Amino acid sequence: MADPKRISHWIDGKPWAGVAERAGDVFDPATGERAGRVDFAAQSEVDEAVAAAARAFASWRHSSLATRTNVLFAFRELLNARKRELAEIVTAEHGKVLDDAGGEIQRALEAVEFACGVPHLLKGGFSENVSRKVDVYSIRQPLGVVGVISPFNFPAMVPLWFMPNAIACGNTVVLKPSEKDPSAANYLAELWAEAGLPDGVLNVLHGDKVAVDGLLHHPAVRGISFVGSTPVARYVYETGTANGKRVQALGGAKNHMVVLPDADLDLAADAAVSAGFGSAGERCMAISVVVAVGEVGDELVAKIGERISGLRVGDGRRSGCEMGPLVTRAHRDRVESYVDAGVSAGATLAVDGRGHEIDGAADGFWLGPTLFDHVRPEMSLYADEIFGPVLSVVRVPSYEAALELVNANPYGNGTAIFTNDGGAARRYQNEIEVGMVGVNVPIPVPVGYYSFGGWKDSLFGDTHAYGPDGIHFFTRTKVVTGRWLDPSHGGVNLGFPRND
Ligand code: NAD
Repeated sequence: MADPKRISHWIDGKPWAGVAERAGDVFDPATGERAGRVDFAAQSEVDEAVAAAARAFASWRHSSLATRTNVLFAFRELLNARKRELAEIVTAEHGKVLDDAGGEIQRALEAVEFACGVPHLLKGGFSENVSRKVDVYSIRQPLGVVGVISPFNFPAMVPLWFMPNAIACGNTVVLKPSEKDPSAANYLAELWAEAGLPDGVLNVLHGDKVAVDGLLHHPAVRGISFVGSTPVARYVYETGTANGKRVQALGGAKNHMVVLPDADLDLAADAAVSAGFGSAGERCMAISVVVAVGEVGDELVAKIGERISGLRVGDGRRSGCEMGPLVTRAHRDRVESYVDAGVSAGATLAVDGRGHEIDGAADGFWLGPTLFDHVRPEMSLYADEIFGPVLSVVRVPSYEAALELVNANPYGNGTAIFTNDGGAARRYQNEIEVGMVGVNVPIPVPVGYYSFGGWKDSLFGDTHAYGPDGIHFFTRTKVVTGRWLDPSHGGVNLGFPRND
């Protein structure tokens, strides 16, 4: 058998030439075959990548805004032109169907396009004559070397939530992508290089906790943007801030879709199936709980069940497949264990995905779409983030009970309400403790010129990802107070300066 493809770091504008002490397997989830081996960085490789980024920062921070936007526009064009190629790389290692991988890249393009406007976004303020012939102005400066640590479920989009703004603001980046689907990151690094980004401005460091800890403790790393599960997000936030870094750490989710009695139930059922099973439920904005209010439960569950039976599950490269496999065998088995746990806990298994017909190789990491009814908050089905194609329906008697349920949940990433009552929708958007809200829209991922982020255990830190918050995160403000052309400055005066 041929040696598996080697996937290694990208440091200082080229593939890393060293020999790794450790490496991990990368699989094709639709066949179950090992597709590659990815190098895992040791501390010495962390140091090498950070040193390359620090050297590059010395000149990149002085690059003109025109130089930066030239690179960003060129990168945007290349990404758009090569999106099919990149989507194929994503599908081969993640498993999501090609069309879905294409959607991920389309949303990533929005973040790049936003950063193309960086000259406008970096404008400071200016106040003339705050005191006699004294002017005050503010400028935004880059942090320095920043680390971006990303999860497996959006191997192209999540790195691109951060890289464009970070680079546009004059920072240099060390990206640590997920070890489960690492190839998209290298492809992106090559595209940036082709777009004219100087060596060392973007580096890709592969690996696991060793690489992450290396970045969290490295004194030259000034900021960390993390996306992943809540326990790791909390750890990254606490460790990074304890080491004096600016950190934004986006965590896991349990997204509720509330369906009021007056909702269009066909629309709601379509939305629940699309948002519950798209990407096999491996989205931080996936709907994992449908909250059926009042009498809608029976009809809604029936409508969701009908739609599930028609879903085509299989190899994401085959035309017509709507849902692919799970990312690894271990993750598939973990998700399946929740199906067993739900049955044991007494929830009603309305659709058992374990029997779903599969259009793919026998050894792929398959689990069909599964629907549970009469789920209660104390069940692990409800309490845990499953991150797979398992949708729970919780029945509640009233709007107030739905609100209480969602607000009591520790996660607060996304939520949706389905209703034809504008007043109820407005009340929900006002009262709900969740960062992103959809009204008759199940996956309310903000467009690239807003920012993305949850509340509570879904985000540690105070800035959201991409958009205006991204510019804020990747810059420090400096305020200058200056006096010119005033020889009569008043002489020695030890009093606190007064602006009169
Ligand atoms: P994960 O937390 O296992 O891994 C995320 C990153 O952290 C990876 O790069 C991984 O190598 C690293 N990592 C893993 N364990 C670590 C440890 N103990 N110490 C240091 N680093 C560690 O997450 P995942 O399974 O790759 O991704 C799925 C999770 O990400 C889900 O919980 C999902 O909700 C979340 N997610 C959140 C958002 C959001 O915007 N809030 C977006 C996408 C995914």
